[in-house]
Amino acid sequence: MSVLDLLYYPDERLHQKSSPVTEFNEELNNLVENMFETMYMEEGIGLAAPQVNIFKRIIVIDVENEKKPENQLVLINPEIIAKEGEAGIDEGCLSVPGLRSHIDRAEKVTVKAQNLKGETFEVKADGLLAICLQHEIDHLNGVLFIDYLSPMKRNLYRTKAAKLTKARKKQAQEAR
Ligand SMILES: [Zn+2]
Repeated sequence: MSVLDLLYYPDERLHQKSSPVTEFNEELNNLVENMFETMYMEEGIGLAAPQVNIFKRIIVIDVENEKKPENQLVLINPEIIAKEGEAGIDEGCLSVPGLRSHIDRAEKVTVKAQNLKGETFEVKADGLLAICLQHEIDHLNGVLFIDYLSPMKRNLYRTKAAKLTKARKKQAQEAR
């Protein structure tokens, strides 16, 4: 297993739409394992493939963040087929570090997806899982939670993001 490199806002690649997965093979299994590894390393509760520079419709979720296999959700080619109610929390994103903001979401969602074997299943979710599913599926369509904020808030964050990028590059250089 290995930890993958994340893409960070304002990297334009994060706004790219991902394509459906058509082959359910060993490569897909390995990618999903590495995505979980990366997500736990970064202390996230969800990760979408485009965040690690792979533009395929794959998401991994573990809202408990306890690394228990029974809580790990893998959704390939997920699609929201029903939405209900209104909810919203302060969301954050591994690709948008240092920012949390309230986003309006549906309270409950039903998602249709495929598992690692290519079998179709449905998840009915509410609470944090419902929000996480909407956030991660947005990534597959090239949408980030920051895109819902006002241009003023986005610009403010861009300044912060530039500083964070600089700090990250410096750290990477020192680690070499
Ligand atoms: Zn995210």
